[in-house]
Amino acid sequence: MHIFDLATPAKQLVNDSIHFVGFQFDGTACYRKGAKFGPDSIREASSNIETYSPYLDRDTADLKNIYDLGNLDLGLFLDVEKSWAHACDHFDSFFKERDLKKDNIKMITLGGEHSISFAPIKKYLETYPDLVLLHLDAHADLRDGYEGFHYSHASIIRRVLDHFGEDHKLIQYGIRSGTKEEFSWMEENKTRMGSHEELIENLLFFTDDRPIYLTLDLDYFDPSFLPGTGTPEAGGEDFHSFIKLIKVLKNKNFVGADITELSPEIDPTGNSNVFAAKIAREILLALV
Ligand code: MN
Ligand code: MN
Repeated sequence: MHIFDLATPAKQLVNDSIHFVGFQFDGTACYRKGAKFGPDSIREASSNIETYSPYLDRDTADLKNIYDLGNLDLGLFLDVEKSWAHACDHFDSFFKERDLKKDNIKMITLGGEHSISFAPIKKYLETYPDLVLLHLDAHADLRDGYEGFHYSHASIIRRVLDHFGEDHKLIQYGIRSGTKEEFSWMEENKTRMGSHEELIENLLFFTDDRPIYLTLDLDYFDPSFLPGTGTPEAGGEDFHSFIKLIKVLKNKNFVGADITELSPEIDPTGNSNVFAAKIAREILLALV
């Protein structure tokens, strides 16, 4: 038994429920591709982990309203940008007759490279005018496009900032790689947390009804723990620091998340997949 055995396959969104959806896109990856295998590898690896989380004292086996929408349709395009846009449209089409907030719908989007987060984050920003976007990543992702692709994985945060309203807030943590300009921008805008303590303090500061969305690039973790990612960066976080954070999110208005940049073929041991599946379990249980 595992979380994806427990998740009911679905073609549309269901009120008062949490939904997984896969976005198998890695078209703009600059170093090593393979993140398109992420969603199915997380599903598969989750059969090897317990349903119970001793950290959150919650069990996925007790959950009723968990659905898996499968993987988004990428169409048959030679142009990667068209393929990405087609899948984003598919994501949006789920919301034609549903409202994230009113219908109490939560989404966990499985990547794919980080550019896939655009679709869910845009939807969450539109729905929640006071959304806190929590960005965990080794990279700042603030470039204005990368290698000709405006919506590149290296510019995902920059692109969602285009959709920020007055009361949206960005918090970044784990960032240890980027250009001088990216670091200056984070410094000026005070988006980058300098320590784990500062991160937790800032999250605790928000009122309990303030909606928080997590965009997680798995290269946030140190490559010694999770080598199966396209752009590994030494000096990363460990599992325990994530657990401290997820315990805080459990008691907040945690409304949705995406998990990106698992690249299974890069780690032939499969350990990265199991690590990512465990992270997915904790995120699911904190969202309940
Ligand atoms: Mn990254
Ligand atoms: Mn990223």
